[in-house]
Amino acid sequence: MSDNPPIEFAFPDLRKWEKGAAPYIHVIESGKAGPTVMVAALTHGNEVSGAIVVDALLSAGLKPRKGTLIFSFNNIDAYHSFDARTPFKSRMVDEDFNRVWGRLDQPATTSEMKRALVVKPFVERADLLLDLHSMHDDGVPLMLAGPLDKGTDFARKVGSPVDIIRDAGHAAGMRMRDYGGFGDAASPKNALLIETGQHWRASSVVVAKDVTARFLAETGIVDAADLPAGWKQPSPPSQRIVEVTHAIATKRGDFRPVRVFEGQETIAKAGTVLGHDDGQPVTTPYDNCVLVMPSANRPLRGGVTVVRLGRLI
Ligand SMILES: [Zn+2]
Repeated sequence: MSDNPPIEFAFPDLRKWEKGAAPYIHVIESGKAGPTVMVAALTHGNEVSGAIVVDALLSAGLKPRKGTLIFSFNNIDAYHSFDARTPFKSRMVDEDFNRVWGRLDQPATTSEMKRALVVKPFVERADLLLDLHSMHDDGVPLMLAGPLDKGTDFARKVGSPVDIIRDAGHAAGMRMRDYGGFGDAASPKNALLIETGQHWRASSVVVAKDVTARFLAETGIVDAADLPAGWKQPSPPSQRIVEVTHAIATKRGDFRPVRVFEGQETIAKAGTVLGHDDGQPVTTPYDNCVLVMPSANRPLRGGVTVVRLGRLI
């Protein structure tokens, strides 16, 4: 018996998109002034809902009415390494593509650093970026808006999903969505990262289509009617912003949660025990603490983040 989660959709054959402005990167110009807008898939090679969306828009021949549209399949080599017996391995080839963006001035020794140097000029050109991701564990979709007001403002304009996460990224290295002007409060550039749900759930494709349609319409480079019918879903009644304040990592991989965490649940009381790491209690630091993207329900290596803690703002 395999413990791997089910794969609920067919993976697209992307080889037809190899030839572009660079391998697996396509630039579509309108010929009219306007913003440069980039939609990126496969920053992590096994996060396929975004690849389905970009494949569909390229196949549909979507053209911007103004400005420029860039589509990218970022870690295409990782995607092509997919093996259904070890489906989580194709997240990357050598290292995480989404942690190299603060050290691209250093020698490119890994598959991901080499690929990031190919993708970089397109990311630098983009005024607005949507990076399409999905999650290891089942969970509600999350918009990762970065640490700045402009990110959360943009996520509100997109209008879905419910949960907007305001976060500073990872100690392990800079994400693409925080690179250059995207991470500069004084720059008009803006980026969003959507976590659509579990990697291979059909529902993640629905979320990826909805958020991409909303994002593209919001940029103004296409009309809503230019996008495939049925992609945009009804808007949630409201959104909420959760600011990540803590990332709880397990010291040696011996974190024992007190119960199964669903993700995005709110723990009412400060001091509530979430679990024990190496026998030491881990507690919530304030009232109404939100558990963001918990991974405590599966075995983890030492140093890995068990859960992020967030405050409603
Ligand atoms: Zn990802």
